[in-house]
Amino acid sequence: MGRFWLYWLMLGAAAIGGYFLVPQNTGASGVYYCVISMISALMIVVGVRMHRPAKPLIWYLLAAGQVVWAVGDIVESVNKFVLGRDPWPSESDAVYLSGYVVMAAALFVLIRGRTPGRDRAGLIDAGIIATGLTLVVWTFIMRENWAADDTVIGRLTSLSYPVGDILLLVMLARLIIAPGARTASYRLLISSLGGLLVVDPIYTYVTTVGVYEGGLIDLGWLASYVLCTASALHPSMRSLSETSPDKAERLTTHRAILLTITVLLAPVILIEQGLFHSEDIAWEAVAICAIVLFLLVMLRMFGLVNQVQDQAAQLDALAHNDALTGVPNRRAWDLELARRMANASHSGEDVVVAILDLDHFKRFNDQYGHQAGDRLLKEAAAAWRAELRATDLLARYGGEEFGVCITGMTAAAAAKLIERMLAVTPLGQTFSGGLAAWTGEEAPERLVARADAALYGAKSAGRACVMVHTGQSVTAPVADPLGATTG
Ligand code: GH3
Ligand code: MG
Ligand code: MG
Repeated sequence: MGRFWLYWLMLGAAAIGGYFLVPQNTGASGVYYCVISMISALMIVVGVRMHRPAKPLIWYLLAAGQVVWAVGDIVESVNKFVLGRDPWPSESDAVYLSGYVVMAAALFVLIRGRTPGRDRAGLIDAGIIATGLTLVVWTFIMRENWAADDTVIGRLTSLSYPVGDILLLVMLARLIIAPGARTASYRLLISSLGGLLVVDPIYTYVTTVGVYEGGLIDLGWLASYVLCTASALHPSMRSLSETSPDKAERLTTHRAILLTITVLLAPVILIEQGLFHSEDIAWEAVAICAIVLFLLVMLRMFGLVNQVQDQAAQLDALAHNDALTGVPNRRAWDLELARRMANASHSGEDVVVAILDLDHFKRFNDQYGHQAGDRLLKEAAAAWRAELRATDLLARYGGEEFGVCITGMTAAAAAKLIERMLAVTPLGQTFSGGLAAWTGEEAPERLVARADAALYGAKSAGRACVMVHTGQSVTAPVADPLGATTG
């Protein structure tokens, strides 16, 4: 059962070979062709029954697409060999074109399965590739066709085929670009679509310059059907629409090169037109596609820049915040303290620094466990932060020590604020605090050292209190003579 797909491929190759033994462009070759395409469609359903994928819809749609195309072939053959008519556009064109819609629906469902969620970058990249190829197809194949057709419906019909192909091509590009497992089933399906999208433009080109009388192009279509069915018969078809675990869409070198080449198509085609068709340059198409390409590239660039900025912001937050408590860390404290002192040296504002150290925290850890200690640090930081104004800085200085920087407040008023923080320390715990007011000249390290000295004074004085370093000595905070508020 596991090799069934391989037998199918061999059988398919033999059947395609046999096709060329039948006289070409006759009723017999028409019937032969339709039998292969119908059996291929049927075998996709057999594949679904055999392997029972979780999401069978894409396979039924692929089968339906092949059936619709086969019906188009039947209508075409009946017209040609039974009724002896060859209208343009024909009923078969309507059928063929609806086949594109069904195939596109199948690929859409598949892509959604493989890359769920929004994938803007991938979509833009696919759009860029589609636009570049549209320009190539239009300039070298369609343009002449368009001018040659004299009815509107004829023009629209001949335009619809390349539009259908480009639609499928965008989806094929999406499938190739997007992350996901490259299983045998995936590769067979990609080859099937790739083959189809190589043969279709060749057919369009051949019918533009002459009349198609059957032959190698039929081989391409038949091979595409057979490969698609082999994809459905391979056991790995079950996981084809599974989400890739690696969802990160990155701009790989390959993709960057592909996009660069695509974007360069517009100017290169313009040069080609200028050199070889200077009397009739396809300037409208080149201009429109160049504009679309530019806009898509800009959109892609904005996306990348946003991504980089978001990541920079995340890295910045990681680098400057303490992971446990979420407050700024020592690095941020050093930077911010220097910045505040530089500002204050211009504005003349008061700057007060306090260092807080939890009392007997080792004992707390020993008694309740390290995790409880962590929780206390977290809750204490939150409770203290809530007492402070938005402009005050609270940072984790290290271990169970925190730094506070208060601006626009006297040392006495700041001491009151720190005492209020002491009162709200969770779980009945306390800290000792040391304060120092900036002299206006001293370096940040000196200011912090004085606050530290005050902290040691508070520890010596029996803990759970706040002391101020006045310049010469460490004392208990005095009432604010000016009655400054804490803001
Ligand atoms: P003192 O009142 O003299 O400050 O006593 P103390 O026990 O608080 O001081 P000591 O410096 O002896 O101990 C500090 C303790 O803080 C020791 C260490 O295990 C604990 N500690 C430091 N950082 C963390 C942390 O992130 N989480 C927890 N749970 N404990 C920490
Ligand atoms: Mg300590
Ligand atoms: Mg301590």
